[in-house]
Amino acid sequence: MSWRIDPAVGEILDRGRDGAGISRDEALRLLHLDLESRETYALMESANALSRAHFGSKGENHFHIGLNVEPCPMDCSFCSLTKKAGIFSEKTEFPLEDILAWARQGQAEGADALNLMSTGTFPFSRLLEIGRRLRQEVDVPLVANARDISHAEGEQLLDAGFVGFYHAIRLGEGRDTPFDPARRLQTIRVLGDVGLRWMNCIEPVGPEHPAEEIVDLMLLARREKATYSGVMRRINFPGSPKEPLGMISERRMAQMVAVSRLVMGDTVRAHCTHEPHSLSLVAGANLFFPEVGSSPRDGHADTGKGRGRSIGDCAALLREMAWDPSLPSNCFK
Ligand code: SF4
Repeated sequence: MSWRIDPAVGEILDRGRDGAGISRDEALRLLHLDLESRETYALMESANALSRAHFGSKGENHFHIGLNVEPCPMDCSFCSLTKKAGIFSEKTEFPLEDILAWARQGQAEGADALNLMSTGTFPFSRLLEIGRRLRQEVDVPLVANARDISHAEGEQLLDAGFVGFYHAIRLGEGRDTPFDPARRLQTIRVLGDVGLRWMNCIEPVGPEHPAEEIVDLMLLARREKATYSGVMRRINFPGSPKEPLGMISERRMAQMVAVSRLVMGDTVRAHCTHEPHSLSLVAGANLFFPEVGSSPRDGHADTGKGRGRSIGDCAALLREMAWDPSLPSNCFK
Protein backbone atom coordinates (compact mmCIF):
# COMPACT_ATOMS: atom_id res chain seq x y z
CA MET A 1 0.00 0.00 0.00
CA SER A 2 1.36 3.39 -0.97
CA TRP A 3 1.29 6.27 1.53
CA ARG A 4 1.76 8.85 -1.17
CA ILE A 5 -0.84 11.55 -1.62
CA ASP A 6 -2.11 12.82 -4.97
CA PRO A 7 0.99 14.51 -6.50
CA ALA A 8 -1.02 17.48 -7.83
CA VAL A 9 -2.35 18.17 -4.33
CA GLY A 10 1.17 17.66 -2.94
CA GLU A 11 2.51 20.38 -5.25
CA ILE A 12 -0.16 22.85 -4.07
CA LEU A 13 0.66 22.04 -0.46
CA ASP A 14 4.41 22.49 -1.02
CA ARG A 15 3.81 25.95 -2.46
CA GLY A 16 1.29 26.78 0.26
CA ARG A 17 3.55 25.86 3.15
CA ASP A 18 6.29 28.14 1.75
CA GLY A 19 3.95 31.07 2.46
CA ALA A 20 3.62 32.38 -1.10
CA GLY A 21 -0.18 31.93 -1.10
CA ILE A 22 -2.24 29.70 -3.36
CA SER A 23 -4.56 30.50 -6.27
CA ARG A 24 -8.37 30.48 -6.38
CA ASP A 25 -8.46 27.18 -8.29
CA GLU A 26 -5.97 25.60 -5.90
CA ALA A 27 -7.95 26.71 -2.85
CA LEU A 28 -11.16 25.34 -4.42
CA ARG A 29 -9.48 22.01 -5.07
CA LEU A 30 -8.38 21.80 -1.41
CA LEU A 31 -11.83 22.77 -0.11
CA HIS A 32 -13.35 19.90 -2.06
CA LEU A 33 -11.01 17.23 -0.62
CA ASP A 34 -12.76 14.37 1.13
CA LEU A 35 -12.53 14.89 4.89
CA GLU A 36 -11.42 11.25 5.30
CA SER A 37 -8.60 11.52 2.77
CA ARG A 38 -4.88 11.57 3.47
CA GLU A 39 -4.76 14.73 1.39
CA THR A 40 -6.94 16.55 3.95
CA TYR A 41 -4.57 15.55 6.77
CA ALA A 42 -1.60 16.62 4.64
CA LEU A 43 -3.36 19.96 4.04
CA MET A 44 -3.79 20.48 7.79
CA GLU A 45 -0.16 19.52 8.39
CA SER A 46 1.02 22.08 5.81
CA ALA A 47 -1.08 24.88 7.32
CA ASN A 48 0.14 23.95 10.79
CA ALA A 49 3.78 24.02 9.65
CA LEU A 50 3.29 27.43 8.01
CA SER A 51 1.73 28.92 11.15
CA ARG A 52 4.39 27.54 13.47
CA ALA A 53 7.14 28.87 11.18
CA HIS A 54 5.57 32.35 11.00
CA PHE A 55 3.95 32.90 14.40
CA GLY A 56 6.60 31.18 16.54
CA SER A 57 4.74 29.42 19.32
CA LYS A 58 2.48 32.37 20.15
CA GLY A 59 -1.15 31.50 20.86
CA GLU A 60 -3.44 34.56 20.85
CA ASN A 61 -6.51 35.32 22.98
CA HIS A 62 -8.49 38.34 21.74
CA PHE A 63 -11.17 38.95 24.38
CA HIS A 64 -14.60 39.75 22.90
CA ILE A 65 -16.66 42.09 25.07
CA GLY A 66 -20.19 42.59 23.69
CA LEU A 67 -21.24 46.05 24.91
CA ASN A 68 -25.01 45.92 24.44
CA VAL A 69 -28.07 43.86 23.69
CA GLU A 70 -30.95 44.98 21.52
CA PRO A 71 -33.66 43.62 19.26
CA CYS A 72 -31.55 44.83 16.32
CA PRO A 73 -33.64 46.18 13.43
CA MET A 74 -30.99 45.10 10.89
CA ASP A 75 -32.30 41.53 11.24
CA CYS A 76 -29.30 39.65 9.86
CA SER A 77 -30.78 36.18 9.63
CA PHE A 78 -27.90 34.33 11.39
CA CYS A 79 -27.89 36.62 14.44
CA SER A 80 -29.60 36.04 17.79
CA LEU A 81 -29.71 39.77 18.58
CA THR A 82 -32.33 40.55 15.94
CA LYS A 83 -35.82 41.89 16.30
CA LYS A 84 -37.09 38.94 14.27
CA ALA A 85 -35.49 36.33 16.55
CA GLY A 86 -37.55 37.77 19.40
CA ILE A 87 -35.04 36.65 22.06
CA PHE A 88 -34.28 40.14 23.36
CA SER A 89 -37.12 42.62 23.68
CA GLU A 90 -35.30 45.58 25.28
CA LYS A 91 -32.35 47.73 24.36
CA THR A 92 -29.79 47.50 27.17
CA GLU A 93 -26.16 48.44 27.51
CA PHE A 94 -23.95 46.64 30.02
CA PRO A 95 -23.06 49.02 32.88
CA LEU A 96 -19.68 50.72 32.50
CA GLU A 97 -18.54 49.07 35.76
CA ASP A 98 -19.11 45.62 34.19
CA ILE A 99 -17.23 46.61 31.03
CA LEU A 100 -14.34 47.98 33.10
CA ALA A 101 -14.29 44.85 35.26
CA TRP A 102 -14.17 42.62 32.13
CA ALA A 103 -11.37 44.74 30.67
CA ARG A 104 -9.35 44.53 33.90
CA GLN A 105 -9.98 40.79 34.01
CA GLY A 106 -8.76 40.57 30.39
CA GLN A 107 -5.57 42.39 31.30
CA ALA A 108 -5.00 40.29 34.45
CA GLU A 109 -5.52 37.04 32.53
CA GLY A 110 -3.21 38.01 29.67
CA ALA A 111 -5.65 38.88 26.85
CA ASP A 112 -3.80 40.08 23.75
CA ALA A 113 -6.60 42.46 22.70
CA LEU A 114 -10.03 43.64 23.82
CA ASN A 115 -12.56 43.42 20.99
CA LEU A 116 -15.46 45.75 21.80
CA MET A 117 -18.55 44.63 19.87
CA SER A 118 -21.67 46.74 19.46
CA THR A 119 -24.94 46.04 17.65
CA GLY A 120 -26.37 47.80 14.60
CA THR A 121 -27.81 50.95 16.21
CA PHE A 122 -25.31 51.44 19.07
CA PRO A 123 -24.29 55.13 19.24
CA PHE A 124 -20.83 55.62 17.77
CA SER A 125 -20.12 58.41 20.26
CA ARG A 126 -20.70 55.94 23.11
CA LEU A 127 -18.25 53.46 21.60
CA LEU A 128 -15.65 56.25 21.50
CA GLU A 129 -16.39 57.19 25.11
CA ILE A 130 -15.97 53.59 26.28
CA GLY A 131 -12.73 53.31 24.31
CA ARG A 132 -11.34 56.49 25.93
CA ARG A 133 -12.27 55.23 29.38
CA LEU A 134 -10.72 51.78 28.82
CA ARG A 135 -7.57 53.40 27.48
CA GLN A 136 -7.12 55.09 30.88
CA GLU A 137 -7.81 51.88 32.79
CA VAL A 138 -5.99 49.08 30.95
CA ASP A 139 -2.96 48.57 28.79
CA VAL A 140 -4.37 46.09 26.28
CA PRO A 141 -4.82 46.93 22.54
CA LEU A 142 -8.41 47.95 21.74
CA VAL A 143 -10.22 46.64 18.67
CA ALA A 144 -13.68 47.97 17.72
CA ASN A 145 -16.38 45.84 16.08
CA ALA A 146 -19.15 48.12 14.84
CA ARG A 147 -21.15 49.28 11.82
CA ASP A 148 -19.58 50.73 8.66
CA ILE A 149 -17.50 53.85 9.27
CA SER A 150 -16.27 56.90 7.38
CA HIS A 151 -12.70 58.24 7.28
CA ALA A 152 -13.60 60.84 9.92
CA GLU A 153 -14.98 58.12 12.21
CA GLY A 154 -11.85 56.03 11.65
CA GLU A 155 -9.74 58.99 12.82
CA GLN A 156 -12.00 59.38 15.85
CA LEU A 157 -11.48 55.73 16.76
CA LEU A 158 -7.72 56.21 16.59
CA ASP A 159 -7.96 59.34 18.77
CA ALA A 160 -10.03 57.40 21.30
CA GLY A 161 -7.27 54.79 21.58
CA PHE A 162 -8.41 52.01 19.27
CA VAL A 163 -5.70 50.37 17.17
CA GLY A 164 -7.79 47.88 15.20
CA PHE A 165 -11.26 47.24 13.78
CA TYR A 166 -12.93 43.88 13.23
CA HIS A 167 -15.03 43.97 10.07
CA ALA A 168 -16.11 41.20 7.72
CA ILE A 169 -18.00 40.96 4.49
CA ARG A 170 -20.09 38.09 5.76
CA LEU A 171 -21.15 35.05 3.75
CA GLY A 172 -24.55 35.97 2.40
CA GLU A 173 -23.88 39.70 2.85
CA GLY A 174 -26.70 41.57 1.09
CA ARG A 175 -28.88 38.41 1.11
CA ASP A 176 -28.92 37.39 4.77
CA THR A 177 -28.16 40.97 5.84
CA PRO A 178 -29.42 44.38 4.68
CA PHE A 179 -25.86 45.59 4.07
CA ASP A 180 -24.19 46.28 0.73
CA PRO A 181 -20.94 44.28 0.39
CA ALA A 182 -19.44 47.23 -1.52
CA ARG A 183 -20.03 49.49 1.50
CA ARG A 184 -18.43 46.91 3.81
CA LEU A 185 -15.40 46.87 1.52
CA GLN A 186 -15.29 50.65 1.58
CA THR A 187 -14.99 50.49 5.40
CA ILE A 188 -12.18 47.94 5.12
CA ARG A 189 -10.34 50.41 2.86
CA VAL A 190 -11.00 53.25 5.32
CA LEU A 191 -9.15 51.19 7.92
CA GLY A 192 -6.09 50.91 5.71
CA ASP A 193 -6.22 54.62 4.86
CA VAL A 194 -6.39 55.85 8.46
CA GLY A 195 -4.03 53.25 9.95
CA LEU A 196 -6.38 50.98 11.91
CA ARG A 197 -5.47 47.29 11.71
CA TRP A 198 -8.13 45.29 9.88
CA MET A 199 -9.16 42.11 11.69
CA ASN A 200 -11.23 39.60 9.69
CA CYS A 201 -12.75 36.16 9.68
CA ILE A 202 -14.58 34.17 7.00
CA GLU A 203 -17.98 33.92 8.69
CA PRO A 204 -20.53 32.69 9.53
CA VAL A 205 -19.91 29.52 7.52
CA GLY A 206 -22.81 27.13 7.07
CA PRO A 207 -23.12 23.93 5.03
CA GLU A 208 -25.09 25.76 2.33
CA HIS A 209 -22.37 28.24 1.38
CA PRO A 210 -20.76 27.55 -2.01
CA ALA A 211 -17.01 26.92 -1.95
CA GLU A 212 -16.57 29.74 -4.49
CA GLU A 213 -18.12 32.34 -2.17
CA ILE A 214 -15.94 31.14 0.71
CA VAL A 215 -12.72 31.18 -1.33
CA ASP A 216 -13.45 34.60 -2.83
CA LEU A 217 -13.72 36.06 0.68
CA MET A 218 -10.41 34.39 1.63
CA LEU A 219 -8.76 35.98 -1.41
CA LEU A 220 -10.28 39.37 -0.58
CA ALA A 221 -8.78 39.15 2.93
CA ARG A 222 -5.36 38.54 1.44
CA ARG A 223 -5.71 41.28 -1.17
CA GLU A 224 -6.93 43.89 1.33
CA LYS A 225 -4.21 42.97 3.86
CA ALA A 226 -6.05 41.58 6.85
CA THR A 227 -4.00 41.32 10.05
CA TYR A 228 -5.60 37.92 10.61
CA SER A 229 -8.34 36.07 8.76
CA GLY A 230 -9.44 32.59 9.78
CA VAL A 231 -12.78 30.81 9.76
CA MET A 232 -15.83 30.88 12.05
CA ARG A 233 -18.80 28.59 11.65
CA ARG A 234 -22.39 29.72 12.01
CA ILE A 235 -23.92 28.72 15.32
CA ASN A 236 -27.66 28.16 15.04
CA PHE A 237 -29.20 29.66 18.17
CA PRO A 238 -32.46 27.97 19.27
CA GLY A 239 -35.19 29.04 16.85
CA SER A 240 -32.72 30.37 14.25
CA PRO A 241 -34.18 30.58 10.73
CA LYS A 242 -30.98 28.78 9.66
CA GLU A 243 -31.70 25.74 11.85
CA PRO A 244 -33.05 23.61 8.95
CA LEU A 245 -29.72 24.08 7.12
CA GLY A 246 -27.67 22.63 9.99
CA MET A 247 -24.13 23.58 10.93
CA ILE A 248 -20.70 22.52 9.70
CA SER A 249 -18.64 20.28 11.98
CA GLU A 250 -15.44 21.33 13.72
CA ARG A 251 -13.65 18.89 11.42
CA ARG A 252 -14.96 20.61 8.28
CA MET A 253 -14.09 23.95 9.88
CA ALA A 254 -10.51 22.77 10.51
CA GLN A 255 -10.19 21.88 6.83
CA MET A 256 -11.38 25.39 5.89
CA VAL A 257 -9.05 26.96 8.47
CA ALA A 258 -6.18 25.13 6.76
CA VAL A 259 -7.19 26.24 3.25
CA SER A 260 -7.59 29.82 4.46
CA ARG A 261 -4.17 29.65 6.13
CA LEU A 262 -2.48 28.63 2.86
CA VAL A 263 -4.33 31.40 0.99
CA MET A 264 -3.10 34.03 3.49
CA GLY A 265 0.50 32.78 3.27
CA ASP A 266 3.12 35.03 4.85
CA THR A 267 0.89 38.15 4.83
CA VAL A 268 -0.78 37.70 8.25
CA ARG A 269 0.21 38.03 11.93
CA ALA A 270 -2.13 35.31 13.25
CA HIS A 271 -4.94 32.98 12.12
CA CYS A 272 -8.26 32.81 13.98
CA THR A 273 -11.05 30.32 14.43
CA HIS A 274 -14.33 30.45 16.33
CA GLU A 275 -15.79 28.97 18.47
CA PRO A 276 -12.68 27.72 20.29
CA HIS A 277 -11.82 24.05 19.67
CA SER A 278 -8.64 21.97 19.50
CA LEU A 279 -8.55 20.54 16.00
CA SER A 280 -8.00 23.82 14.15
CA LEU A 281 -4.97 24.45 16.38
CA VAL A 282 -3.16 21.73 14.41
CA ALA A 283 -4.55 23.06 11.11
CA GLY A 284 -3.08 26.57 11.07
CA ALA A 285 -5.12 28.47 13.69
CA ASN A 286 -3.46 30.11 16.71
CA LEU A 287 -6.03 32.75 17.71
CA PHE A 288 -9.16 32.36 19.84
CA PHE A 289 -11.90 34.73 20.95
CA PRO A 290 -12.90 34.19 24.59
CA GLU A 291 -16.21 35.99 25.11
CA VAL A 292 -18.30 37.95 27.59
CA GLY A 293 -21.23 40.35 27.15
CA SER A 294 -23.51 40.15 24.14
CA SER A 295 -22.94 37.66 21.32
CA PRO A 296 -24.83 37.13 18.06
CA ARG A 297 -24.56 33.38 18.69
CA ASP A 298 -26.18 33.27 22.11
CA GLY A 299 -29.63 33.52 23.67
CA HIS A 300 -28.03 34.62 26.97
CA ALA A 301 -27.57 38.39 27.29
CA ASP A 302 -24.10 37.71 28.79
CA THR A 303 -22.46 34.97 26.75
CA GLY A 304 -19.95 34.57 29.59
CA LYS A 305 -22.83 32.77 31.33
CA GLY A 306 -23.79 30.97 28.10
CA ARG A 307 -21.78 29.71 25.11
CA GLY A 308 -18.78 32.03 25.59
CA ARG A 309 -15.51 30.41 26.66
CA SER A 310 -13.32 32.07 29.27
CA ILE A 311 -9.78 33.30 28.73
CA GLY A 312 -8.62 30.50 31.04
CA ASP A 313 -10.42 27.84 28.98
CA CYS A 314 -8.95 29.20 25.74
CA ALA A 315 -5.44 29.45 27.22
CA ALA A 316 -5.69 25.81 28.35
CA LEU A 317 -6.78 24.67 24.86
CA LEU A 318 -3.89 26.62 23.29
CA ARG A 319 -1.32 25.16 25.70
CA GLU A 320 -2.55 21.61 25.06
CA MET A 321 -1.68 22.16 21.38
CA ALA A 322 1.72 23.74 22.13
CA TRP A 323 0.73 27.38 21.57
CA ASP A 324 1.94 29.69 24.33
CA PRO A 325 -0.61 32.41 25.28
CA SER A 326 1.88 34.12 27.63
CA LEU A 327 4.17 35.34 24.82
CA PRO A 328 3.68 38.88 23.41
CA SER A 329 1.09 39.23 20.63
CA ASN A 330 2.31 39.30 17.04
CA CYS A 331 -0.75 41.29 15.90
CA PHE A 332 0.17 44.76 17.15
CA LYS A 333 3.93 44.94 16.51
S1 SF4 B 1 -25.19 40.99 13.02
FE1 SF4 B 1 -25.06 43.07 13.93
S2 SF4 B 1 -26.25 44.40 12.53
FE2 SF4 B 1 -26.82 42.27 12.05
S3 SF4 B 1 -28.65 41.89 13.28
FE3 SF4 B 1 -26.89 41.19 14.51
S4 SF4 B 1 -26.34 42.95 15.78
FE4 SF4 B 1 -27.67 43.71 14.14
